[in-house]
Amino acid sequence: MALAHNLGFPRIGAQRQLKQALEGFWRGDISSTELQQTGAALRTQHWQWQQQAGLDFVPVGDFAWYDHVLQLAQTFGAVPARHASIDEPLTQLFAMARGASACCGGNSAALEMTKWFDTNYHYLVPELEREQSFELQLSPLVAQVDEARSQGFSAKPVIVGPISFLWLSKCAGQEFDRLELLPRLLQAYGQLVEQLNERQCDWIQFDEPVLSLDLPPSWLAALVESYQYLSDLVAGNILLANYFGGLADKLTWLQQTGVDGLHIDAVRAADEVQQVAIQWPADKVLSIGVIDGRNVWRADLSSLLTTLSPLHEQRGDKLWIAPSCSLLHVPVDSDVELQLDDELRGWLAFARQKLSEVVALTRALNGCQSFTDRALFTDSDQVQRQRAHSSRVVNLAVRQRCHSVLPEHHERQSQFAQRQQIQASALQLPPLPTTTIGSFPQTAAIRQNRAALKAGTLSQAEYDSFIEAEIADVIKRQQQLDLDVLVHGEPERNDMVEYFGEHLQGVAVSQYGWVQSYGSRCVKPPLVYGDVARAQAMTVRWSQYAQSLTDKPVKGMLTGPVTLLNWSFIRSDLPRSDVAQQLALAVRDEVADLERAGIQIIQIDEPALREGLPLRQQDQQDYLQWAVDAFRLSANGVADSTQIHTHMCYCEFDDVIESIAALDADVISIEASRSDMTLLNSFIDFNYPNAIGLGLYDIHSPNVPEVAVMAADLQRAKQIFPTAQIWVNPDCGLKTRGWPETEAALANMVAAAKQSRAEL
Ligand code: GLN
Ligand code: ZN
Repeated sequence: MALAHNLGFPRIGAQRQLKQALEGFWRGDISSTELQQTGAALRTQHWQWQQQAGLDFVPVGDFAWYDHVLQLAQTFGAVPARHASIDEPLTQLFAMARGASACCGGNSAALEMTKWFDTNYHYLVPELEREQSFELQLSPLVAQVDEARSQGFSAKPVIVGPISFLWLSKCAGQEFDRLELLPRLLQAYGQLVEQLNERQCDWIQFDEPVLSLDLPPSWLAALVESYQYLSDLVAGNILLANYFGGLADKLTWLQQTGVDGLHIDAVRAADEVQQVAIQWPADKVLSIGVIDGRNVWRADLSSLLTTLSPLHEQRGDKLWIAPSCSLLHVPVDSDVELQLDDELRGWLAFARQKLSEVVALTRALNGCQSFTDRALFTDSDQVQRQRAHSSRVVNLAVRQRCHSVLPEHHERQSQFAQRQQIQASALQLPPLPTTTIGSFPQTAAIRQNRAALKAGTLSQAEYDSFIEAEIADVIKRQQQLDLDVLVHGEPERNDMVEYFGEHLQGVAVSQYGWVQSYGSRCVKPPLVYGDVARAQAMTVRWSQYAQSLTDKPVKGMLTGPVTLLNWSFIRSDLPRSDVAQQLALAVRDEVADLERAGIQIIQIDEPALREGLPLRQQDQQDYLQWAVDAFRLSANGVADSTQIHTHMCYCEFDDVIESIAALDADVISIEASRSDMTLLNSFIDFNYPNAIGLGLYDIHSPNVPEVAVMAADLQRAKQIFPTAQIWVNPDCGLKTRGWPETEAALANMVAAAKQSRAEL
């Protein structure tokens, strides 16, 4: 009998209960007991759903208050000195996650946060000292195993493995070889394993997603050593789980680990399944992750059954069926999306639906299908047929247009140097021009009006005039601040991706399709289900209105095709590059309309360009090629006199600077302040030719930056770049800030620019 299991379930809650509880706790509205109760209720609910779906094991340890890597660091006592004096574990955990003010243990900054592989989930980066000791502290994992077992669930503890933990950590202070810490780290894992042994867990799942990366041999040798050690210690069995890519290149190493089972991502690395099935010993468990944990579409169960059947014949009960990765990256339940039409909703499978798919497949393999399992297969067949022929999926006009895209559609009319002159005389801006990144504070009033429109208590006309009043207000404030290039402030947008999702054909937005991004932050990625087309202008009205109120240029504001792609759930029946091209053409039309409406400067944000970079080096060039093409296609249909801006934040540019330059945006605004301007190094080394907007201050904090500090940074920049190349702006949009600090900070920024101008 094949077994059905799951690698992890979304922890945030179907109605984002964890978010509300966390934020309530941080505000002081609820007690830690209430927070604990919410966590426990969520865990029970999630285990119940999984068991009811028919899984043989439920994952335990996938829950975390903020982030599971952070939780593990704390479990092993890998707590930076600045947080170590905080006794209460939860207070310490949140201090590590969010920083702590003077109230608890001095002013201690949070751990760095970074992206979890190529997902939009962010983990906190453990900081390890060269002399780092690891010691098992209070373990939430062990407590949760007890909790699950006392409620009658068949628990499979899940934990990030030592190699991934070390790889994803960073050295505190001076660099050293983190593998030096492995023996000590393994002892701490050993302590944890002992406690799990006492609880007689059949299986422990160690996640090693770093196996999807290009790993140096020393790390692979460390992998072998670690799991040989752990295999000896674990009384039950070890399932080593990899996801987000392939691992066939590491099979000979994996065979030496002595683990009892291996989980592979059969969606991302479908082409490796046969090879792994042949090489992975038949007496060991092979868990095949066939249900896509990174996307939201219903699986083609019949065709999966066909591929899996021979494997099941070979391996029998050594074959396990699972989602490809933890379901952390998909929303909880598509059945509640009642605002989507039945057809589209029928195409979706969120976490709960995916588990039913896993179980239906497993039972079909085992020859013990229930009536509902059979119905699921019938439905799945029908959905595949429907989607293949639906007119909302294939839009012939879009297909034709994509076919007729020519190389010259990616090119500006003239080189940057020429454009720069033309734009200078068209725009008449002072040197070191000042601007912002697009959004201004999204106030409670804005959110209330948007909610009222959705609830139907505010008419569209009333809402529109409210938005116009907001725009008029931000234009007035920007004029008072004496900024040079103004923006309309984006009050009409709930989110820079969702807004466009709401307006494009072939794209739908869900009501509750939330996915955790970090801590209590969630995003609701749009669903790109069909060919993408722009039905009508999406932003022109607002930009045009803003421009009508001022003589200064108002910058049009769009989200770029690559970011729309990377921050949405994309259909799986077309290559991502094709979807990117369709999105690019839709944005290109909007750019053309803005230009026609008299907007002289257009910003196309691409903050997610780098995060789409494939995990393996061998795949990266191809991605960068089509991603850059998509941006250029969206931007380059304009006259030389129209100035194209782009914006990127949180970006390491080193390995992609060539592609960033290839975007050929007239101005790129980046975050420079938080990296103490070191971010500029890649631009300097590359001899980056176009203009750069220096993110002179960090908008993520309410602190008001000092004029002198920003003026000094500008001074440094002027020594590196020609003045004509430099723009002045904050490092990101201001939507999360309040007005008082926004105005104070911008006033100082403008003062710094003026001071610096006077010195020219
Ligand atoms: N224009 C967007 C804003 O200002 C850009 C946001 C982003 O970079 N993430 O909000
Ligand atoms: Zn930004």
